[in-house]
Amino acid sequence: MSEEVGPEAVVLGEVVIPAEKISARVGELAEQISRDYAGRPPLLLGVLKGAFVFLADLARAIRLPVELDFMAVSSYGAATKTSGIVRIVKDLDTDLSGRDVLVVEDIVDSGLTLSYLRKGLLAREPASLEVCALLVKRGQQRAPIDIAYTGFEIPPIFVVGYGLDVGERWRNLPDIRAARGEGVELS
Ligand code: 5GP
Repeated sequence: MSEEVGPEAVVLGEVVIPAEKISARVGELAEQISRDYAGRPPLLLGVLKGAFVFLADLARAIRLPVELDFMAVSSYGAATKTSGIVRIVKDLDTDLSGRDVLVVEDIVDSGLTLSYLRKGLLAREPASLEVCALLVKRGQQRAPIDIAYTGFEIPPIFVVGYGLDVGERWRNLPDIRAARGEGVELS
């Protein structure tokens, strides 16, 4: 069973990826995406809420006329351990058929969210479907994952900042930082 964790039970730890490094890597990813999608501008599909900062930076660095849409899924609720159950909280407004879709994710941990999303999105018959994830936790995947663009691989620690939260806090930190629970387990 997942524990509900409020931000008051969490302390910020060390900087795992500083803002300048994130910014440089986002630029590289955007370059790669701009080359790969030349002539077939992608629909960037942001997975809310965690990916909103990454998506905003990535979209502005891509040199193509991109379109954007958003989906909100919930795998954890307010807790921090995956339940394996993924719920669509907000669906897309765009018809995906024939579109080149690039899913923009904040972090891949077990991979369950991504694998669920991929299945559901493929059923809508896009021309192509790829994933761009800012962070991938090393050695944690419980479902096969296929990620075309990865920002950083990180150790299996719990992180916040640059869009990522605990109980809705710390999404606005410019760096990605470790977070530790006081008497509660976060990762
Ligand atoms: P997965 O389904 O891959 O286990 O989990 C993916 C989702 O879990 C992410 O989109 C994110 O919402 C949440 N998540 C996984 N690891 C972390 C983490 O270290 N920090 C935060 N804030 N959220 C995480």
